Amino acid sequence: MTNERFTPAEVINRLAAEGISFTASHDGPVGKVTVHLSPDQAARYWDDPPAALAEAHGVTRAQYLAWQGAGYVVQCAARTARGRQCRNPVQGGHLVESPAQWVALQGDYCLLHGEGLE
Ligand SMILES: [Zn+2]
Repeated sequence: MTNERFTPAEVINRLAAEGISFTASHDGPVGKVTVHLSPDQAARYWDDPPAALAEAHGVTRAQYLAWQGAGYVVQCAARTARGRQCRNPVQGGHLVESPAQWVALQGDYCLLHGEGLE
């Protein structure tokens, strides 16, 4: 009997070659979100789950964590007369389901500021 040691990536690639696929679930705006992971992403998940999930969603690790940290809300980019950031969500920026969409909406304005009011 050999005493072979495999790295996680080797194990995952061997399983993938046998037709096994990988999915992961993570928190989203309305419960758990399930994403498909490539074998490389599954191997990355072993060491750094947020990095692998971010890659599966096509965003950076920081963007993925910011999406969750913001409660899936994109805040209006306008400043109030007092210099504070407007607290309203942008249009379509409430409980955004995908981190890529959340990133795309950054810099947008709420209904009020989008129409040049205030
Ligand atoms: Zn606003």
